Amino acid sequence: MRTIGVIGGMSWESSQLYYRLLNQKVKERMGGLHSAKLLMSSLDFAELAAMQEDGHWHQIGVKLAHEARRLELAGADCILVAANTMHKVADQIEHVLTVPLIHIADATAQAVKMRGIRRVGLLGTKYTMEQEFYAGRLTMQHGLDVLVPTVEDRELIHHVIYQELCQGRFDGASRRHFIEIMQELVRRGAQGIILGCTEIGLLITQDDSAVPLFDTAQLHVEAAVEFALEHMPR
Ligand code: GLU
Repeated sequence: MRTIGVIGGMSWESSQLYYRLLNQKVKERMGGLHSAKLLMSSLDFAELAAMQEDGHWHQIGVKLAHEARRLELAGADCILVAANTMHKVADQIEHVLTVPLIHIADATAQAVKMRGIRRVGLLGTKYTMEQEFYAGRLTMQHGLDVLVPTVEDRELIHHVIYQELCQGRFDGASRRHFIEIMQELVRRGAQGIILGCTEIGLLITQDDSAVPLFDTAQLHVEAAVEFALEHMPR
């Protein structure tokens, strides 16, 4: 089994989910006492979120690249950045690695396409919903037609992610807002919805939606376990 390196803490609310899911999925495949071989470097999200706000993305990239390299030197055979937004600096991270960075948007896009879906709604931070590195990648590299919520709804989602979900608050009113926003995306033609923030799956489940939901944390973990067990007998 290969060792999975995880850069976490962004936020730790979803990193604990990664830890659990990685182990659960290895156990599902291999049974018995098997668990994932993994290394995690968990960062202080307050520092990183402040850098995001100030637009200091290059410095974030330097920091995450440093962590990724440390994980590789410690024995990681692949790297996961356990957040969608931080993939804005994926190129900087890949640049210092000789092992693969498993990209969360690619893992997600594969799953969307496998369901035969072309037009998909995207929820996430403003960075994820609005910028080239994520919404653009889904369109340009994967041929998906991506629908995002209105400006006001994007503001609301962004606020809830940082002020509630990343701080471990899961509020009924916010959940209802998210459901209404998803329903609007479906009215506009979305055949599925990408939960493009690793904490959203802690608030919303498939029962809240009439169309398939694509939980990026789950799909990212599945891609990593697939890689880790590539040469293991099924
Ligand atoms: N975990 C979130 C994501 O998947 C938001 C935190 C961050 O800005 O990295 O995008």
